[in-house]
This record gives sequence, C-alpha cells and structure tokens, in this order.
Amino acid sequence: MLSWDEDTAATAARPPQARPQLQSVPTGAPVSAFQADTALDPGILARPEKTGDTQGRVNAVDKRIINGKTDVNQLVPFKYKWAWDKYLAGCANHWMPQEINMQRDIELWKNPNGLTEDERRLVKRNLGFFVTADSLAANNIVLGTYRHITAPECRQYLLRQAFEEAIHTHAYQYIVESLGLDESEIFNAYNEVTSIRDKDQFLIPFIETLTNPEFQTGTTESDQTLLKSLIVFACLMEGLFFYVGFTQILALGRQNKMMGAAEQYQYILRDESMHCNFGIDLINTIKLENPHLWTPAFKEEIKTLFLQAVELEYRYAEDTMPRGVLGLNASMFKGYLRFIANRRAQQIGLEALFPQEENPFPWMSEMIDLKKERNFFETRVIEYQTGGALNWE
Ligand code: FE
Repeated sequence: MLSWDEDTAATAARPPQARPQLQSVPTGAPVSAFQADTALDPGILARPEKTGDTQGRVNAVDKRIINGKTDVNQLVPFKYKWAWDKYLAGCANHWMPQEINMQRDIELWKNPNGLTEDERRLVKRNLGFFVTADSLAANNIVLGTYRHITAPECRQYLLRQAFEEAIHTHAYQYIVESLGLDESEIFNAYNEVTSIRDKDQFLIPFIETLTNPEFQTGTTESDQTLLKSLIVFACLMEGLFFYVGFTQILALGRQNKMMGAAEQYQYILRDESMHCNFGIDLINTIKLENPHLWTPAFKEEIKTLFLQAVELEYRYAEDTMPRGVLGLNASMFKGYLRFIANRRAQQIGLEALFPQEENPFPWMSEMIDLKKERNFFETRVIEYQTGGALNWE
C-alpha cells in the first residue's frame, strides 16, 4: 500500500465537510472598522478603539492568520473553520497516560531475557529524544507561535495542542518511571547523545526566533522568518523528526513487546499527526493571504532545511539501530524519511525532493487510524468521559 493515510486518518473524528476551506482574500479588501490600538502588538491583544458601535463589529472577512487587526478575543464569526474543527477533533481524542496499564512492560523490562541489548538501547535512545522534544514543542507554542497568530480559531487549537504536548511529556515520564530507568540519563540525553543533540540544535534557533520578545511580524522579512519557523516546526519537527522513534516503538508493539509503551505512542502519534496537519493548514493559509512571502529564494531555503533534517534524522536512525533490530535497520529508514519528506514538501506546495520514493512501512498508516473505542492491540476498551457529572452537594 503506497497511499499515505496519516493525514486523513489522524483527523478521523473530523466530519468530511470540515476539510480546510481556504478562503480567498480579495485584494483591496475593506479595512476593518476595528482598528487595533497601535500601541499594542496586535498579535498579543488586538482590540477595537471603541465598543458599543455595531459598525465596529468583527467581520469574518477581515480576519487574518498573521498581522490581523480584528479583536483576537472574539472567536466568532468564524473564518478559519478548519482550525475550530481540529480543536473539536483534538478534544474528542482526549486521553491520559496513566489510563494505560504498564504492568507487562515492567515485567518484560525487568526480565533479563525479556529484551535484547539492542532493543533496550533503542528504547532508551528513543525516550531520550522524546522526553524533551514535547517540552520544546510546548514552549514553542506557548511562548512563541501563539502570540504571532492573530486568528482566534487558530489560537483556540494552539491552546489544545499545548495541553496535548504536556500530556505527551507526561506519557514519556510515566514510561521512564514505570520501567525504573535512570531519569538523569534519559532527560539529559538531549545534551549528551550526539544524534539527539544535533536534532535539537537544528530546531532551537527556529524556536528562539519566535520566543524572542523583540521579534514582531509585519515586514516581509519578519513574516518570512515566522513562516520558516512554522514550516520547520510542523513539517520537520512534528512531521519528520518524530517518525523514526514512533516507528521503532510501534514495531516493538507489533512483536508483542512493550505493548503499554506502544499503546501510548500510538495515541501520541495520532495527536502529532493532527498537530502536523494543523501546522500545514496554517502555513498554506498564510501563503494564500501573503503570496509575496513565497519567493523562489525562500523556497530554496526551505528545501535546504528539508535536506538537512532528513540527514539528521537518518543519523539518529543509525545511532539508535547500529545493527538490525526488530526486522528494522537504518537503511530502511533512509527510504522512509525520503518518502515522508516528499509528502511534507508537497503538502506545502513544494516539489518532491526525492521522486519515486516508496513507503517501506505501510503499516504505519494503519497505526494512526486509531479508533477511540478499541485500541489496536486489543488490550483494553477505552472510553473517555467527556461530560463528567458534578456533584454539588
Ligand atoms: Fe506536537
């Protein structure tokens, strides 16, 4: 199976009519009657100069993803319905790490013959990347991306996404604690293990750009800087750097090993696939609203970043799998990473970087198509309470 199902499967809870509807932005569109207070960064708290004037009410057509002048506190009228629908889908997929039983994983890990040394190395290196990756992601959203996005529907999704990143960090911590791993070794891996540190050092400058309090959008150069960081974050971090690790742990689960961890990763993969798709919708809408940003030079710069990211992730694959393990080996991942990079490039309107590349792990697509009622490994039935009864007595 060569089709790439992740993108649609990840948002299975989303009704078909909720596909992103990119609205064209008429040139010379009337300036909003709401003029942002110029003394405020509109990305932080855009508000009208006066209230109580119906002529000053928010008009959906005036909303913008970046550099908007409409009131960021008014979610409706909706313009970016795709973002709201993803927020609803994210809430419908809610899960918590401690709901997953880790007992069999603990027994397997403590059994000297339960796993090979290569499998143990793979698990520890894997957690070594992920225990800090989602903290980087959360900080990037909360301290960076959020304030530069002026569409309240998108901010609503980012708030949900930020909480999901916290749940993911919680899940990795829960696995580390359950297995009794050396916490210091795992949480310091992003400083101490070269293949992990190199990935994070590639990402951090793009995160620091957005989290720098001095950074503001509003010029072609700064808007391109923001767009570049959004592409790195969605397409290369969440969309590429997570995939060797997800595939490895899910491959363990397919062999009935570390089933609890594999179940956690499966939920995380579903969330991350939606984060990636939201980021891509965000990027494409910014492109549509600001076509002047998408210059040939800018596209070349993005292609170079894609190639660097593929190389870094491949080196991570080699480091985590110095020999074949679980029927996987690093060279299989070379093809997989090229396949994913092609997909990400095409999703944001670039040409495939490695034409003709095929997916060596089609089962990964099935893994993402996870229904809430019954998990893939059929270990337990999961149903989340969405409207808990309150007792006021
Ligand atoms: Fe994420």
